[in-house]
Amino acid sequence: MDYITVKGLIVKETDFNEADKMLTIMTDSCGLIHAKASGIKSLKRKELSGAKPFLYSEFTLAQKGEYYNVREANILHSFLEIKNDLIHLALGFYILDIVNNIGMENQPNTALLRLTLNTLFALNHSKKSPQLVKAAYEMKVADIEGFTPHTFECMECGNELDTASVCYFNILDGGILCNDCCRAAERNILKISKTTVDAMNFILDSDIKNFLSFQLDERILPEFSAACERYFLTQSDFHPKTLDYYKKVMLAD
Ligand SMILES: [Zn+2]
Repeated sequence: MDYITVKGLIVKETDFNEADKMLTIMTDSCGLIHAKASGIKSLKRKELSGAKPFLYSEFTLAQKGEYYNVREANILHSFLEIKNDLIHLALGFYILDIVNNIGMENQPNTALLRLTLNTLFALNHSKKSPQLVKAAYEMKVADIEGFTPHTFECMECGNELDTASVCYFNILDGGILCNDCCRAAERNILKISKTTVDAMNFILDSDIKNFLSFQLDERILPEFSAACERYFLTQSDFHPKTLDYYKKVMLAD
């Protein structure tokens, strides 16, 4: 039996047998890992206290072939404050769902892991609205996964985008069109303001540490979040139930 130590965030847990759970962990060095936590539901297994969603922990895993068993999980950082707010919690589960779907086994994705940890931290500790955090996260995930939209000029003619004019976001081809180039009848084109384009450019230009360091007028927020969400869902072809749940919670608020 080999033992490995990894740092990671649990992105999914499912019940397994009566006392066990199967965990999906986004790790720093091995990408996504599926590991069994035997007896985790027993109060006596205190050495597994760090094996919960929304905890960033150091895991000692016993490895046998492709199978991992969690021997120990020690908390490095807790994001459990997220449970104090139902909207934050619903958004948190959507974020973990994204990592679970985009992460790959045996392929470390430090950028996605760091981005996710920073985003959970911001949800708990910044005054940013969850809509803004969600939209910025979606756009930045699109960026680091290699589907960065063409937003700094018109993707068709290359002309500079006029501050005063309306812009058109081609969701499918991933870029902004100027007034002249947009054939409005085309599907998957979203009419957006230059302010939204500027916010996207800020996120795409920023590193993972600073991608949330911007303000946005509340009147622009609905347009900005719709643009980022539609772009992310279209490009990633991902339509999770956790997003429906987040929207339900938002509406009920
Ligand atoms: Zn153009």
